[in-house]
Amino acid sequence: MMKFKDMPYERIDFVQVKEQLKKLMKKLEEAGSGEEQFAVHKEFYKLNDRVQTQVTLCSIRHTIDTTDEFYEKEQNYYDEQVPEYSNLCVEYQKRLFASPYRDVLEEKIGPVAFKNMEIAMKSVSEEVIPLMQEENALVTEYEKLLASAKIDWEGETLNLSLLTPYLKSKDPEVRRRAAQKQNAFFDSIADKLDELYDKLVKNRTEQAKTLGFETYTPLGYLRMQRNCYGRKEIENLRRQVKEVWVPFAEELFEKRRERLGLEHMTYTDEQVYGPEGNPQPEGTPEEILAAGQEMYEELSPETKEFFDFMMENELLDVFGRKTKAVGGYMTYLPDYKAPFIFANFNGTSGDVDVMTHECGHAFQGYLAAEDPIREHADIGMETAEIHSMSMEFFTEPWYHLFFGKEKTADYTGMHLEDAVIFVPYGCMVDEFQHEVYDHPEMTPQQRKEVWKKLEKEYKPHMDYAGLDFFERGCFWQKQHHIYSFPLYYIDYVIAQLCAFEYKIWMDKDRRGAWESYLKLCRISASEFHTDLLQQSGIESPFKDGNCGEFKRNCLKSFGQKDICLCAKNTNARILPETVDKTS
Ligand code: ZN
Repeated sequence: MMKFKDMPYERIDFVQVKEQLKKLMKKLEEAGSGEEQFAVHKEFYKLNDRVQTQVTLCSIRHTIDTTDEFYEKEQNYYDEQVPEYSNLCVEYQKRLFASPYRDVLEEKIGPVAFKNMEIAMKSVSEEVIPLMQEENALVTEYEKLLASAKIDWEGETLNLSLLTPYLKSKDPEVRRRAAQKQNAFFDSIADKLDELYDKLVKNRTEQAKTLGFETYTPLGYLRMQRNCYGRKEIENLRRQVKEVWVPFAEELFEKRRERLGLEHMTYTDEQVYGPEGNPQPEGTPEEILAAGQEMYEELSPETKEFFDFMMENELLDVFGRKTKAVGGYMTYLPDYKAPFIFANFNGTSGDVDVMTHECGHAFQGYLAAEDPIREHADIGMETAEIHSMSMEFFTEPWYHLFFGKEKTADYTGMHLEDAVIFVPYGCMVDEFQHEVYDHPEMTPQQRKEVWKKLEKEYKPHMDYAGLDFFERGCFWQKQHHIYSFPLYYIDYVIAQLCAFEYKIWMDKDRRGAWESYLKLCRISASEFHTDLLQQSGIESPFKDGNCGEFKRNCLKSFGQKDICLCAKNTNARILPETVDKTS
């Protein structure tokens, strides 16, 4: 293994790569047995891993120094070349899919991979490519519109993410003023937001019709690679959440109101955990990273090995620097079997999320790296987020390393509370999108009415207290996923409920829960989601009655350990915000 900075970079020559790929397709067609075809397929893995590794190296180096002109040029080159290469890979897959030796191949690569190939073929065609390009352009326009925010704050100019700390200020007046600024910004772009979404809905519907679907929803499911459950299961999950989980979350909002000492809680208060505000970690960015190392060393031999590997090979670039791109991500370099974590630590609890959540994704990548079948790394988001959200719970006993004696209980409580509260919100975002794509002819105004109705069902306590943009039923317009990643959101809900199961399990039997988690991570995507849950001993959140069961166990589990901050209400507790789900 080698350090990240020593990994050699060489521009991929796509003319040559395409030649190689065509040769492989020919070899695949000429092969006389499944064994021979599998040997060709292993050559394909090698080629594709090399391409992925170089493209990823380039994109990491571009984001860790956006002023580096060399990697900027390389990045532009890949932005242009990669789509064509991807199309050719699909052509290759089609030949694999149509193999006369399917049985032998399926034995080796697994049925999930073949199901995913089938799904990929059904969800794209030449005819919809112009529409997909237009869709991308609309999404980019939306992202740019939000990024353009210039909010005047006491003489300073802030963008939306820099405004966030003020929205969560412990001072009710400050957060109210920040929310008014936010409301005014969204109000100023309201027509544009309506127009973009209307175009997106019509575009997606047209893509669906062109591909032979009645509405966008079934196509969206395929594009989310939902290969083992469908609309019926998701509707059943949402129904249970409405019945059981909404009242649960409402109880927690009520506790939050009491904790904040408010007569009445409005939108501007509910993102704040207590009168002292939201707990922040104590140390410097360097100390947070060191605390992470100590935590993973103690957590298990597997996590120690993983974290040592990340540190020795300098695979964590987490300290904020002016020349770095914003945000954070976890990615993977296949040739080195190496995960990579990018972040911008800034001394907030978001830094801790990187250590507990993103490291969960990276740990899974590290654990599953020895699997030679590359399709097994093609993990659905509902599964991938179990890896990370469960790690947030497995690391709970070490929160004090980040938050110190005084604030650990607050952070633990907030983390739990936020996780419970998230579930109804996640379902609301999902149900909204189903309504929208079922009725693509709705006007922007009708869509807002749908949202208002859903808010009454999923967040009945909600009071925007005069923030008129939000009062008009527009809150969803600031939720990126609705524009950028259609029908994605429910994956977080599924994963969160599974992570709760691990929480409940570890409170009773930490060793058993950890063994199951390792198993789940190692299965990766070699089994269908529903099967891998079963094999790991986790109940499916789709099953009737399970939501209620989770809730009862959550309450019991919280009560038993008495980690709840409200001494008088020992029957409930809650959780934090993960890095990527709400922004
Ligand atoms: Zn994640």
